[in-house]
Formats: sequence, structure tokens, C-alpha cells
Amino acid sequence: MKALITGGAGFIGSHLCDALLARGDEVTVIDNLSTGSIENVSHLEGNKRFRLVIDTIMNVPVLEQLTAKADIVFHLAASVGVKYVIDNPLKSIQTNITGTENVLAAANRRKCKVILASTSEIYGKNQTSPLTEDAERILGSTTISRWSYSASKAVDEFLAIAYHREKQLPVVIVRLFNTCGPRQTGQYGMVIPRFIKQALLGHDVTVYGDGSQMRCFCFVGDTVSGILKLSDAPKAYGDVFNLGNDTEISIHDLAKLVIKLTKSESSIEFVPYEHAYEKGFEDIERGKPSIAKAAKLVGYKPEINLEEALKRTIEYFRE
Ligand code: UDP
Repeated sequence: MKALITGGAGFIGSHLCDALLARGDEVTVIDNLSTGSIENVSHLEGNKRFRLVIDTIMNVPVLEQLTAKADIVFHLAASVGVKYVIDNPLKSIQTNITGTENVLAAANRRKCKVILASTSEIYGKNQTSPLTEDAERILGSTTISRWSYSASKAVDEFLAIAYHREKQLPVVIVRLFNTCGPRQTGQYGMVIPRFIKQALLGHDVTVYGDGSQMRCFCFVGDTVSGILKLSDAPKAYGDVFNLGNDTEISIHDLAKLVIKLTKSESSIEFVPYEHAYEKGFEDIERGKPSIAKAAKLVGYKPEINLEEALKRTIEYFRE
């Protein structure tokens, strides 16, 4: 199969490259290296079935050329990270909405299959646990930048579903819940690489708020295997699936676990949200996926528990 991965030099995208190449596919990546990095794919240099195009999904002619040669597009290019979105609100909205529209329109020319990466952020402040795909979206005011990410990805989902319903484009939407693993960077706010780096350097581990907020972290290998399974399932077309691990941990307990596993001397520092992000910042208290839908359709089942995921990520950071 010939795959095009937008954002393929990013954290999740680069692991998807590895998995596709390992099963014999040809992989082309388009990435503008804004939050992705060349190091994530440098080990693939020289592989005859791999090609990296450094360009943006805002470049329509290039996208059209690349999708014309692809059997499937994995659309992972997006502005990601709560911190990044708050610091770059305009660029984030434009990349997420216009970029996705460009990808869908280009793919639609040849009805090329699209897997659209979406996010648990879609559910906003809905604290139902676990969250099923049909759960309500509860968002705060438009004056709080964080919610623009959720809103822009929701527009992406609406667009993808509309392309499927009106133009019969084969598309599958995957809502990813807190993926973690090697190659993830803490630069854009993601908590696990930040905690590991702080702990390894002996710095204070910065827990935002009181640390009672809960998350479910999924090892990137499990996320990628779910994406691949759904990409091979025609019954998934036009539909939305949560992908993640459904074991919850509070951020305070996560900080303690990272300190334990790194054998660090670091202390925990509690940082008020408005210092960490912006005035009026609202966090998500809970984000636990129901993964029953993907389990039922394609047998999705995460295999790596949090402790193992952290050990592998710590190993990566040590190296
Ligand atoms: N967080 C934290 N310290 C950090 C970075 C993040 O306590 O240095 C918290 C953040 O406020 C959130 C959780 O960790 O409650 C997960 O944050 P992340 O940005 O990784 O994911 P998301 O909020 O998108 O689920």
C-alpha cells in the first residue's frame, strides 16, 4: 500500500511510519517541521520505501500531487499541545481547519481513503466516565483560547463526516486520548515528557492545579495499532472511534510515579493554572475513554500499561 502521512515527522506520525514500513508499505510524509522534527524520522533515511517532503498542508498543489499517488492518507498534521494552542491561537485554528479542508478536498479528487486524527479534547469538560463517542461536547467561552483547539477539531470532524455523507469519501475519525512514548516532546505542554525531563534533571516536577485532575495515558504503539486496525476496516468508514487506554491516574500520582521510576530526588511543585497557561484557564478534570466501540469492530486492545510506557519513555530520555 502507498501511504501518505501528514505530520509524519511528529511524535505519533513517526511511529506510524515505522509500523507501515515494517509491514512493507511505501510511506510518504509531508511535514513542515513546525512541531515535528527531522530527528524523529532520521533513522528512516536511506529506506527506499520512505520519502520526506518538507512542506505544509496549506500548499494545495503539493497536497494534490501527493494524494494522487496515495492509496490512503493518514492526516495527523495539526497544531497540538494545550500550551502551543494558547501561545499560537490564530495559526492553530488556521492549520487545523483550512489544513484539514485541504487534505479532504485533495483526497476526494480520487476518493482516497482518509484516517483523520482527532482528539479527546472534543468532549471538553464533559466528566462522564467513560466517554463514549456519542457523548455531549461541553466547552467554555471563546475568550478562553484552549477551547479553540476542541472547536477546530470538531469542525474537522464535521467536514470529514460531510465529505463521507455527500461525496462518499471513505474516512475514519480516530479520537486519540493522551498518547505517550519515546519522541514526544514536552515543549508544547505535554505532561509526561515534561515530568520525565524534570525528574531526570533533578528539577521540581510541576503539577498544575492541585493535581487531582485525571487522565488516561496510552502508549504510542497501542495508539498506532488501533489506527492501523481501523484503517483496514471498511465498516469504520464515516464513523468515529475513541483510541486510548482506559486506566486512569491523577496528575499528582503520575508525578509521584515518574519520580519513583526515575529514582529522582526531585520534589513536586504545585503551580497555579494561571501561571502555567493563561488567566481564566480551565482544565479538563477527567478524560477516560470508552474503547468498547473499537474493541467490538476491530478487536482494539491496548497492551502496554502506564508503568511500562513510562519506563520505555524514561529510557528514551536517558539516551
Ligand atoms: N500538566 C501538569 N504539569 C505540566 C504539564 C501538564 O500538571 O508540566 C497537567 C495539565 O494541566 C493537565 C494534564 O497534566 O491537567 C495533562 O496535560 P497535557 O497537556 O499532557 O494533556 P491534556 O491536557 O491535553 O489532556
